[in-house]
Amino acid sequence: MSAFRTSHVLCFIFSCSQTLASFGNFWHITDLHWDPTYTVTDNPELVCASNGARPVTNAGKFGDYLCDSPWDLINSSVYAMKDILPDPDFIVWTGDDTPHVPNERLGEEAVLSIIGKLTHIIKLVFPDTKVYSALGNHDYHPKSQLPPEQNNIYEQTTQLWQDWLEPESQLTFRKGGYYTENLLNRTGYRVLVLNTNLYYDQNQQTADMEDPAGQFSWANQILTSAASNNEKVYIVGHVPPGFFEKKRNKPWFRSNFNRRYLELIRQHHAVIAGQFFGHHHTDTFRMFYDSNGNPISVMFLTPGVTPWKTTLPGVSDGANNPGIRVFEYDTSTLLVQDMVTYYLNLTHANVARDRWEKEYRLSEAFQVADASPASMHRVLNRVAADRCYLQRYYDYNSVSYDLSACDGSCRADHVCSIREVDFDRYEHCLEKEGAPSPSHALTPLLLSVAFSLFLASY
Ligand SMILES: [Zn+2]
Ligand SMILES: [Zn+2]
Repeated sequence: MSAFRTSHVLCFIFSCSQTLASFGNFWHITDLHWDPTYTVTDNPELVCASNGARPVTNAGKFGDYLCDSPWDLINSSVYAMKDILPDPDFIVWTGDDTPHVPNERLGEEAVLSIIGKLTHIIKLVFPDTKVYSALGNHDYHPKSQLPPEQNNIYEQTTQLWQDWLEPESQLTFRKGGYYTENLLNRTGYRVLVLNTNLYYDQNQQTADMEDPAGQFSWANQILTSAASNNEKVYIVGHVPPGFFEKKRNKPWFRSNFNRRYLELIRQHHAVIAGQFFGHHHTDTFRMFYDSNGNPISVMFLTPGVTPWKTTLPGVSDGANNPGIRVFEYDTSTLLVQDMVTYYLNLTHANVARDRWEKEYRLSEAFQVADASPASMHRVLNRVAADRCYLQRYYDYNSVSYDLSACDGSCRADHVCSIREVDFDRYEHCLEKEGAPSPSHALTPLLLSVAFSLFLASY
């Protein structure tokens, strides 16, 4: 009897402590790319400046796959966040606010005014919510040329975001566009917002530098003291390391920066509880492993709000439905428990109304317990080995826009870009998956032609 009682009490305590593990949630939104020129008109040339000379027939109120977001779509997405989860713990916003148009059509003032308008609507709808905000490569004029030192755009953006930034954060943001703070002011929890646009291979300002704006040594120092202070850290940024899964052999970082970023994560993975990035406009993730092949960290790439079909040569039909995402996390460990992606079927929205729907919940769709590195490694293995999981992942990759079959080379492109952030290992992965990189056959001349063709996009 007393043994029963003891076990009963123990059970009770155990289940209590289980329910006491407290879960929180936050929004991640990215790549809103507002195009202020968007107009619904019968003239296919005049719908939007972001069409890249592609005629836009049948444009609708909430946007078009050939254009960046009209204001109606921006407005709809921010109010959808409010409807779905009105009181998140915080919001992560990873940049790219301006449209894909030539530099001559924007200018510094226009870029700042667009950042200002988007900041304003987020503050209007979420007046009491903390926002961790990163700059994208489109949040500068000229685009992608974010400098490794103080400048007017970092200064003006610091002012636009001053309610969201602690005084110390304002200092580093002014100088390099990056900052760190305790997450929600809680001791033991930290967020690191990086300016990885400094590592983008399109950025001529930082091309020959070893450590632009001293960001690597700063991050190394912050993560080292995070370890000695027993902190858990989220890393937030825009341009991710590794490869674009929709175009073979297309990295974003310069190779020295890619290597250094990987080293940073390997060295400090024990304190890093998650990495949250954008820029791809697609829904995917990146795995990080230690030298023994154990999964140590995950970078989640959240899909964009803009549906804009990329003009990147070699990508066929690279548009997406607008997406927004809620992360659920353990507030005591910052372990990412789950994520739920919501989306707008743009075609449907334009003929009926803007109905945001749940697209999928990670744990349900991929049958995993949480979004830990071990679980995401399992997701990757399922995608790699099982055609049904591969197709499911592929449908979600474009936010249920491109529902065509993902064949053999498509599979290799996605699997290898998820598995290998390192340049050499990515190439070996393609060889192993029976899809060797075409770059082996290309002469340097052909490579430079391909590169200059690419300059106009993203
Ligand atoms: Zn973007
Ligand atoms: Zn970008």
